[in-house]
Order: sequence, then C-alpha cells, then structure tokens
Amino acid sequence: MNIKRLLGFDTRKEAYAYGHDPDYGYTSAAKIPDRWVPTTCGYCSVGCGMHIGVREGEAVAVRGNADHPVNLGKLCPKGLAEHDIIAAGSRARYPLLKNPKGRFERIRWDEAIETAVREFQKVQLEHGPRALGVVSTGQLVTEEFYALGKLVQLGLGTNNYDGNTTLCMASAVSGYKRSFGSDGPPGAYDDFEQADVVFLIGANIADNHPILCYRLERNPDKTVVVADPRVSKTARTADLYLPLKPRSDIALLNGMAHILIQTGLIDRDYIEAHTSGFRELEQHLGKYTPERVAAVTGLSEEQIYRAALLYGRAKAPFLAWTMGVNHSTKGTETVNAINNLAVLTGNLGKPGASPFSITGQCNAMGTRETGFTASMPGYRKFESDNDRQELARLWNIDPDAVPRNRGHAYPDIVEACVKREIKALWIIATNPLVSFPNVAVLQQGFENLDFLVVQDGFHPTPTTEMADLVLPAAIWGEKDGTYTNSERRVSKVNKAVEPPDEARSDFDIFLAIAEKLGVRQALFPGWTTPEDAFEEWRRVSKGRLCDYSGLSYELLDRHHAIQWPFTEADASSTNDCRPETSRLYADGKFETEDGRARLFAVEWEPYPEQPSNAFPFVFNTGRTVEHWHTRTKTKEVKILERMSPTAWLEMNPRDARRLGLRPHDLVTVVSPRSRIDHLELRITEIVAPGQVFMPFHYEEKNSNRLTQSAFDPFSREPNYKQAAVRVEKSGPRSTAY
Ligand code: SF4
Repeated sequence: MNIKRLLGFDTRKEAYAYGHDPDYGYTSAAKIPDRWVPTTCGYCSVGCGMHIGVREGEAVAVRGNADHPVNLGKLCPKGLAEHDIIAAGSRARYPLLKNPKGRFERIRWDEAIETAVREFQKVQLEHGPRALGVVSTGQLVTEEFYALGKLVQLGLGTNNYDGNTTLCMASAVSGYKRSFGSDGPPGAYDDFEQADVVFLIGANIADNHPILCYRLERNPDKTVVVADPRVSKTARTADLYLPLKPRSDIALLNGMAHILIQTGLIDRDYIEAHTSGFRELEQHLGKYTPERVAAVTGLSEEQIYRAALLYGRAKAPFLAWTMGVNHSTKGTETVNAINNLAVLTGNLGKPGASPFSITGQCNAMGTRETGFTASMPGYRKFESDNDRQELARLWNIDPDAVPRNRGHAYPDIVEACVKREIKALWIIATNPLVSFPNVAVLQQGFENLDFLVVQDGFHPTPTTEMADLVLPAAIWGEKDGTYTNSERRVSKVNKAVEPPDEARSDFDIFLAIAEKLGVRQALFPGWTTPEDAFEEWRRVSKGRLCDYSGLSYELLDRHHAIQWPFTEADASSTNDCRPETSRLYADGKFETEDGRARLFAVEWEPYPEQPSNAFPFVFNTGRTVEHWHTRTKTKEVKILERMSPTAWLEMNPRDARRLGLRPHDLVTVVSPRSRIDHLELRITEIVAPGQVFMPFHYEEKNSNRLTQSAFDPFSREPNYKQAAVRVEKSGPRSTAY
C-alpha cells in the first residue's frame, strides 16, 4: 500500500468510479466493455444465458441474458463472476514435459503432440490398444466431445474411455435406460413453474443449481416437498420436509408407490397401455407397508402418507433429483423407483409432470449424447448391430471398426491402472486427485502408469502436478460450440477472448493429435472449426431421440437456446418465435424394444459401510454455492474464495456436547481409509445426530481421502456418501500447517 493510500488521499478512483453502460445503465466504469458477447455459463447444467463484456481483448464483466429462456437475465454468484477465471494466474499457458529430474520444462506444441502420440502408441504396441485409457469431462463443448469420441474409439482404437460425468450423473443415465430404453431427461424447467407439487429428492438446488430456485419461485401455486437427510437450504424452503435417514430413499419411494396402489391413485389405463412389469411390482410393493417404511426411513407414517397423497392427488407432480440419489451403490435402482412413481400415475410428458434428473456440469448432457462413453453417438447401443452398421454407413467406414462393447467405466479404468493393465492415461479437463473417491487408490494407479498426459486450462492442479505431459487448453469464453443443459436445451457458447499465451482449444488439440496419427482426413474430413463437427453431428443424430438435424448455429444465435429433439421439419415450421417447450414420451411410446416403460421391483438395502463403535458417524459430502467441483476455477475468484475460503465439518449440537466439542474447534475426521486434520467444526441442527457433513471442494482438506471405493453395479457411479467416520478434537498443528 502506498503512502497516499495510507493517508487517505488515494481513493482508487479509477478502480471504483461509476460510468454509464448503454445496455445496463450505471455500473462500475471498470466493467463497461467495448462489446458484449452472448454465451452460456460454463459451470453448471442449469445452462444460464449470459453476455461476456470484453474491453481491449480482456473479459471485464458478465451479465445475465434477459432474453435467454433458462434464466431470464438472472445469474447465481458463480456465474456473476465467471469472467474472473479467464485471467486467473493459475491458467496453463505452455505445453510442459517433465524431465528426468521431475521438473516441468516448456516444449513446443509440435513436440508435445508428437510426444503424446509416441507414448500412447508405445504402450499400445507393447501391451495392446486397450492399454491406453482416456478420462474426459462434462465441461467441453458438444463438438469437442463428438470429435474426441471418434478420435479415441476409432483413431486410437481403445474403448477404455469415460468421463468424470460417471462421478455425478451415470446413475441417472442407467436409470433412464432401464426404465425408458434410452438416456434423456423427459421434462423441462417450465415444469418447475407449471407443477402443483414439486418433489425434490436428494437435490439441494439452492446450493447446486440456484437459478432453478428462481424458476421455482415463479410458481405461485406449488407445494414443495423435500426429502433429504440434511436440512439443506432447499429443505428450509419446503412445505413438507422429509428428514429421512441416509440412503433410505428407495424405501420411501416404494412406500409411496405402495400407498398410491392401495388408495387407487394410480392410472390403470396408462399402466395397461404403456408399461410392463406392473404385476411383479405390485406384488413386490406389498411388503413396503407404511409401518415398515417408517422404521427404515425414520419418518412417521403420517409423513409418508402425506408425501404419497400429495404426489398422487396432484394434477401435475414434478419429481426431480440430483447427486443425493446418484451418489450411491443403489443410485440406478433409486432412479428406477423414482421413474416407477411417474409411470404408475401416468405423469410423464405433460406440462408440470415428469421425473427429472438435474445434471451436474454445464455439458454433461453433451457427452451423454455424442460422447461414445456409456453409449455410442445418438444414444446408439454398442450391442446393437443395426446401430453399429448405421454409424459405419454415416461415417463411411467398415462396421467392424465400430466397437462392439463399452470399455472400462471410470472406476474400472482406475482399477486397471492399479493392476498395470492400463499403462498410459490421457486426462482431459478434470482433476481426479481431488474428485475421485478414496483418492489413495487413484494415486496408486497414477504412480503405476508409464505415461500420464493431462490436458487442462489450469496448472498447477494436484492432477497436472502428477502428469508427464501437460497440454494447456482454452476454457469457457475462449472457444466456440454448444452446450446442452439438463432440460435438453442446446445453447450456443461463443469465443469472447483469445486463450492465454500458447493455450489452444481442445478441438484444435484433438485435430492435431488426429493429424499426427494420420487419421484426420478419415475421421474429420475437411474439418477446421467446431461448426464442421456440429454439421456432421446433426446428420448423425438425425432420427434419434436426441435429434439435432433441424438445429443450426444461426438458429441457436437467433433464439439463444432450443431443446432437442429438433428435426428439419421443426426448423422449417419455426418462424421468428422460439419453439415451444418439449417433453419426451408425451405419446406414451418409449425407446424400449416393446415401446413400453418398464416398471422395476427394486429393493431397499442398508448402505455398504455401516457406522460402528470405532467409526460411529455417517459422513455426508456435498457442495456450497460459492464453489465449483474441485475449486480449480472458483478459488481464483476473489469474491467467491473470500466467502468460503476453507472446508468445515457440520455436527449436531447433541453429538458435539457428548464429545466435549465447541463451535470452531479444530477437529480430526477419521475413516477406515485415512484422516483429515484441523477441520473447522460448525455445530448446527442442519445435520441430524449421528451424521456429519463436509463440502468436497477443497484439495487442502480433501473429503475424498475418507470416502469409499464402492460403486453402483449398473452405472459405476461412486457411493460418495455414508462413509463411517469418527470425529475427535485435533492435536496441535504441526509446522506443516
Ligand atoms: S445456476 Fe449454474 S448455469 Fe446458472 S449462473 Fe449459476 S452456475 Fe451458471
């Protein structure tokens, strides 16, 4: 601080002066740009439309886009400061190769691409093509996912390819596939406004998807039901809050279905015409009596009846969920139990009525549609000869070149690294050293690799630090393409500024690798821009559930965002008005072989790691509104970091009293796997006795040192919640702290 500032003469007028922006009126002069570039938020799957303000080649501000159908001009705290991540000091700027002494050295891009391809081919030649694994993200644009899927599966010849989306949404995908024959969320955000009952289960939208709270508030006639073991910010807004015991959701959903059948609040005509499996389900549900469900969930029978009757008597009940359901060894089956309720009551495809997964990352949906991970592009199935032949025809390649089965899912890629079956790994735009459960296992897997390539917009991160080669990538605001949000709405993403120094878009990196492999013309004929990929994707998606054939960049620019399916016929009938909200399965026809929705008899089971004398607490993890995932981006945004700079542990006052702990004590949390020391204790009724909660964003206090290696058998999604832990007062800090 200079002397003038100390004496109060320097008021930092330049930094704090006001000015007049022609579009937004009086505002900070420092935030008045030369131009506004329309785009879509790059954090979460709500998919808010916004403008990036650019002045002299730098992003200086962000504003919500009032014409965007998702957010109508509103943004949450993360979105409002998103421009700050672009100029972060921790951006990756140059390709870096680790030398034999373990230090990174700058290399040229041509050397970097050559090194990556050489090392990939080396392990593939010695150990077979599947000795290469690839883990990507939900944060690229759809055009990049489409290109990457082709590059990995057809160019590099490995099907050991997955994304970090398996850590958040895979159970929704598997659940949809089992119930309806295909992935694809049936509902829309308009349903938040049109439903008379909104039932949120395992969904803390106030912290995770804040603009959906705004959409919910626009509904004056709703009754909100929230089922969550923690009294989250969302739970505090509920008309009926159901504080169920951890992982008892299947029992609650089955109990509600039981009551709906007993009270005749099901749609027998719909069941007869459009479903299979009703008899088995009805028989199965006989044992889920309110009395038994009350014992399992800890709810009263009255609460269970109220929830069931609210849902069953609603004209338009909307049932939404997110990580509280998906992060479980029973996630897929819980999704099936949710879908059962909607199907039994015929509440699908109608305004306000739908089962609806709220996705995590901004373009997790894009990778699901195009990505060649859980399914082939256009939700085609690996095991379907027809689907494989159709793709081969569209791409003009030999059908035998199209893989016949899915390779390893993310946790199995990690296990294959541990077993030294995968020898080289390419990680793209994700930070698993913070986000993967029981992270010591992942660390072991990385240490066993011959070569690790990490492609990211940021360096250093805990993951790039372990890399042999770092490829610096452009991020949101620096590249073009599209995202799809949770309601299947495709929204344009536009480049506002140049990436820093030598960072390049992921799209360009993929083309460069294809070029080096000698497959660029075969896989990406004539492609130079993401729009070339989009045009091919339109043709490849034509006729599929996620039909993009009528979409174009021009139409998306005009309407900001349009839902799929959007066919060529839809395009020709679209005048200057934005197309109306669409919902899937309105005709009662599903993507299963017999065209019927499947009802599943799913069983509640106790979760895998039960509390014990040694580890008496149930450890729950989740998010806080200020931060995003592993905090790589948001810790660089001062206003967010200052609001939430450190991790904490929430504990009920009764437990704290029993353990002799006081507010803000520093505590140690120990699970059978590892420990976290010196965590700030927050004593609060938000968590029930016997449970503790910790946010998962912080690499310094990483909750994933404690979580388990337990995965859903269908989706392979991790059970991030319900680890058994003990809590004790921390000893004095070592000098390391
Ligand atoms: S709700 Fe999600 S998409 Fe909207 S501004 Fe916030 S982080 Fe971005």
